[in-house]
Amino acid sequence: MKNNAKEKVKESSNALKNYVYMLKFIGKHTPFMLFGYMFFDVLANLPWTLSNVVLLKYIIDVVTEGTGYERIFYVLAAFVVFVIVTNLCTTLFYEASVPKQKEKLYFGIYKTIYDKAAKMDYEAYDNPEYYNDLVLAMNSMNDRAYNVLGNTQDILTNIAGVLTIGTVIVTIDPVCLVFVFLCVAIMTPIGRMIAKVNVERTEAMTPLDRKNLYFSRVFYLQDYAKELRLSGAGKMIERRYNKNIFDRITTISPYLRRQWQLYFCQESLPMTLLIYLGITLLMGYKAIVTKEVGMGDFAATFNGAASISNSVFAITSWFAISFRENGLYIEKFKRFMNAKEKIINGTDKTVYKKPVTIKFQNVSFKYPGTEKYVLRNINLEISPYKKIALVGYNGAGKTTLTNLLLRLYDVTDGKITIDGKDIRDWDIKTYHENFAAVFQDFSLFGATLGENVSMNDSPEAEKVKKALEASNFERELPDGTDSMLLREFDDNGVSLSGGEAQKIAIARAFYKDCAFAVLDEPSANLDPIAEYALNHSMTKAAEDKTVIFISHRLSTTVMADEIYMLENGEIVEHGTHEELLEKDGKYAYMFRLQAEKYNSK
Ligand code: ADP
Repeated sequence: MKNNAKEKVKESSNALKNYVYMLKFIGKHTPFMLFGYMFFDVLANLPWTLSNVVLLKYIIDVVTEGTGYERIFYVLAAFVVFVIVTNLCTTLFYEASVPKQKEKLYFGIYKTIYDKAAKMDYEAYDNPEYYNDLVLAMNSMNDRAYNVLGNTQDILTNIAGVLTIGTVIVTIDPVCLVFVFLCVAIMTPIGRMIAKVNVERTEAMTPLDRKNLYFSRVFYLQDYAKELRLSGAGKMIERRYNKNIFDRITTISPYLRRQWQLYFCQESLPMTLLIYLGITLLMGYKAIVTKEVGMGDFAATFNGAASISNSVFAITSWFAISFRENGLYIEKFKRFMNAKEKIINGTDKTVYKKPVTIKFQNVSFKYPGTEKYVLRNINLEISPYKKIALVGYNGAGKTTLTNLLLRLYDVTDGKITIDGKDIRDWDIKTYHENFAAVFQDFSLFGATLGENVSMNDSPEAEKVKKALEASNFERELPDGTDSMLLREFDDNGVSLSGGEAQKIAIARAFYKDCAFAVLDEPSANLDPIAEYALNHSMTKAAEDKTVIFISHRLSTTVMADEIYMLENGEIVEHGTHEELLEKDGKYAYMFRLQAEKYNSK
């Protein structure tokens, strides 16, 4: 029991810390919005809270006295001025300032998340906990921030209400507060029970929510659109979707039953019996029978007690629910923000203008969180300007090898050196400036053709043209290199074929002035003729670079200076195309198999 209580206290203090963390975060990006939310709502609510109790009491008292009615006019006039001024402030704040502040906050939140995500090790994407936190941060932090603001604002408004009205009631008749305390004492534990049921309900619904999100992704993402149209998958998914809805209703029903019973007990019984009935009888008796208090006091205590009870009810139940829930989300956001990079940033800031020797020395590697070595004892030396082909069956370890060279992961054993220096000594950002990389799963961005080649927003037109020529991109676009790609930012954005897109990705490698290029399957989307032309121009355009490329098509490897064949994470053959054919080993076998396929076509 004791432990349980301790845990609850710890949980609440963590949730409180998380709230403060979020409020500080909001304050950093939009201090005015934080201040406004904390201040203006309290200000806007105060006149109404006071009018319900103090103003009402004053008016009734004056009326009961039977003289000096003009006082009511002055007080009402002051009240109206106060309301108009507070209204003006709050309207200006919520309508004229908050929408702008929201944009700022949105920008602040997403910039923080993007910056953190971009700085994180690539391997973090293999870590489900990190990835889930990232998705959660992306999807919900904006809403959470407003939730936290809204909650804090409501709590402050309610606390202000309880304090002001509490003071008024104490001055009239402190006994009324006993009724309020009793009411709160009954409401609070029920509020906690409601919060608990709500948390259980959310937990029970989470896996079903995830399924729902999957269904909506399937129906809105273009990736699925073709398959859905051409196959029966739509019906299959729809059936699963229907079942999920049925499961959701079945799962939620028992929680709803418990919740409505608890809400009923919480709201009706203590409020009706203690406030409406109890205080009415007590104060009614004192006002009418013993005449200890006036009619104004009677009205003020009745309204005030109900208002305090409602405020406390709101604080204990509704806020208990969102307080904990928001706290959990913020905890995950904090975990994401505090995640540490494993790849250590060195200090070397060398950027080579000309290629130098790259060496893999006894390199072995297993992916983080896995036990199996996917590369074992790799030794290879790449002399400057060489064109190196990595070949082998799927899963042999080719991409992993290039990932290590690009320092997307660090080696498990051994080392990789460039110009004799361990690549782990480099400052990671500078290190990447040495490489142009084209990935198998490259992405085009919603930007102009030129920007997609230069990968920055100030492309040099001549250089872009040359890079596109080198990658044999021949299509004339309406606005040349200023043509927008994709439709996200321009309704007339250009759509490209797989081959065209790949040529743009390859052009990036030619555009970047760097000593080394790494190309993963550069010709996967090209037809054999385009592939032949690419090989030809690639040899010319990459004359001043060391090029390491992965290829499944062995016709591309003919142009390589050296070929490394990998199998199960080891180099099994190494030599020029001719040498390997002569050796008549695994490479020669693979090459003939592919050549036969082409010849028989
Ligand atoms: P290739 O490029 O030759 O097809 P890869 O380098 O992609 O081969 O993969 C080598 C091995 O590493 C495969 O067994 C693959 O399943 C495994 N692998 C690749 N990426 C990961 C990863 N992120 N986490 C765990 N294992 C991985």
